[in-house]
Amino acid sequence: MQLDRYRVPPGQRVRLSNWPTDDDGGLSKAEGEALLPDLQQRLANLQERLYAESQQALLIVLQARDAGGKDGTVKHVIGAFNPSGVQVSNFKVPTEEERAHDFLWRIHRQTPRLGMIGVFNRSQYEDVLVTRVHHLIDDQTAQRRLKHICAFESLLTDSGTRIVKFYLHISPEEQKKRLEARLEDPSKHWKFNPGDLQERAHWDAYTAVYEDVLTTSTPAAPWYVVPADRKWFRNLLVSQILVQTLEEMNPQFPAPSFNAADLRIV
Ligand code: AMP
Ligand code: MG
Repeated sequence: MQLDRYRVPPGQRVRLSNWPTDDDGGLSKAEGEALLPDLQQRLANLQERLYAESQQALLIVLQARDAGGKDGTVKHVIGAFNPSGVQVSNFKVPTEEERAHDFLWRIHRQTPRLGMIGVFNRSQYEDVLVTRVHHLIDDQTAQRRLKHICAFESLLTDSGTRIVKFYLHISPEEQKKRLEARLEDPSKHWKFNPGDLQERAHWDAYTAVYEDVLTTSTPAAPWYVVPADRKWFRNLLVSQILVQTLEEMNPQFPAPSFNAADLRIV
C-alpha cells in the first residue's frame, strides 16, 4: 500500500473534505485482517531492538474527534508491543496544577525516554483544538502555541525522539453511528459523555482548527490523515506506518561487552 499518500506534505494546508474517511486500500475486511498478524510480529521485533538499543525513542501522537478510534487504536495496534517498553499517556481536561503552568509542562513530563515508545492519547494539540473551538484562546495565542509546539517537537527530535502523528479521520455519519452504539449498549455508557454531543455540533469549527494543526507536519514529525471509518483499515494503516517508521529508525541490538564463546555456565 502507498503510505505516502496519507502523509500531510510539509508547508501545506490541507482541506480535510478532500481526504477520504472510508478508504479500504482495495482490500476486503478479511484480506485486511489477514495482513495484521505479520505486521504485529514485525512491530514486536522492532520494538525489542529499540528497547535493547536505548539510543532512540518513538513518540506516537493520536488525535481524533470523539469516537474517532483513539482507544481502539491503542488496544489493537499498540497492543502488539511488549507493555514493558510502552508508556501510554491520556491527556484530559487540565487540572488546576497543570493550568498553573505553561501548556507544554504536562506534556514534556510524559515524553518517552530513550528505548521507549510513548503514546499520546490526545496531546499538546488539544491546546489548539478544543480551546479554539470554545474561544478560550484567541487566534494570536493559537498561532503562538503552534510555533511553540513545532519548537518543542524539534527539541525532541534533536534529542533522539522520532515523532509520528495520526489524525484518525471519520465522517459525521460514522461518528453518529458510534455515538448511537454507545448509547444503546449499557456496557458502553461509561464511554458516553453527553458533552460529546455539543462537540459534535461544532463539526465545522473542529475541521477548521484541525486543518491548522495539520500544517505542523514536518519531515521529522509528520502528520498522517488516517481514513478511520473502517476500524480494520485504520488498524492496518497505522500498523504499516509504524513498521515503516521503526524500520527507518533501524534500531540495532547493542554489541555484547563479552565474548559468548569464552563463557561457560556451570
Ligand atoms: P476522553 O478522551 O474521552 O477521556 O476525554 C478527555 C476530554 O479532555 C476531552 O473532552 C478533551 O477535549 C479534554 N481535553 C484534553 N486536553 C485538553 C486541554 N488541553 N484543554 C481542554 N480540554 C482538554
Ligand atoms: Mg470521550
